[in-house]
Amino acid sequence: MSDMPTAMIEAIDLRKSYDGGVIEALDGVTLTIAPQEFVAITGPSGCGKSTLLHMLAALDRPDSGTITVDGHDLTDLHQPNRYRRDVIGLVFQLHNLLPHLNARQNIEVAMMGTGHSRKEQRARANELLAAVDLGGLEERRPPQLSGGERQRVAIARALANHPQVLLADEPTGSLDSAAVERTLALLASLRRDSDVTIVMVTHDPVVAAATDRTIHLRDGRVSA
Ligand code: ADP
Repeated sequence: MSDMPTAMIEAIDLRKSYDGGVIEALDGVTLTIAPQEFVAITGPSGCGKSTLLHMLAALDRPDSGTITVDGHDLTDLHQPNRYRRDVIGLVFQLHNLLPHLNARQNIEVAMMGTGHSRKEQRARANELLAAVDLGGLEERRPPQLSGGERQRVAIARALANHPQVLLADEPTGSLDSAAVERTLALLASLRRDSDVTIVMVTHDPVVAAATDRTIHLRDGRVSA
């Protein structure tokens, strides 16, 4: 779909309410994110950050408004699973790795059903682990890795299918300060060395400052 879009992500007047309209989680959000931008979405707790990220991941739909990601209209998506597998990569605060699989196998799981041979999957997983500086730890299971190492495996997994967009929800939220710095450096280097666009939700202004641009949300709206 990518016919050199000027915007990788475009959201127009997104609205989402809960509890029969009592809570306006998103109250008319309009934003544009360019290809290869590294953007932070920040704001106080409850301002709508996760709701917005869930919409970008097609995990939820707006009540009204439109969202387009790499040319895909997310309000009219026929194969959301395929979109989530092929167009985006998702990273959460808690890494959601499978504890009984080793680091390499956790990444291979993300490639299931993509038509690649076991050998290709293994090679790609090894390449990704090397890229996130975990070469040599391929056989370790999540309980045998530090929090920062687990988050780097989760980032490698999110990149498995060459996504156009990496969506990260508080990816540094559960890490100590050294691991936060390392994770942010990794995201910055990914953006520099590949053509991925990164959208990171964080409530932490110091983390947001590591990106190219910060979009502030307040009460479900983009604030100046
Ligand atoms: P943030 O990620 O910035 O903390 P959220 O997007 O999680 O904010 O939430 C925005 C608002 O919507 C909050 O008032 C929250 O309580 C409310 N909200 C989010 N999800 C739901 C839900 N499933 N049901 C009811 N209210 C929700």
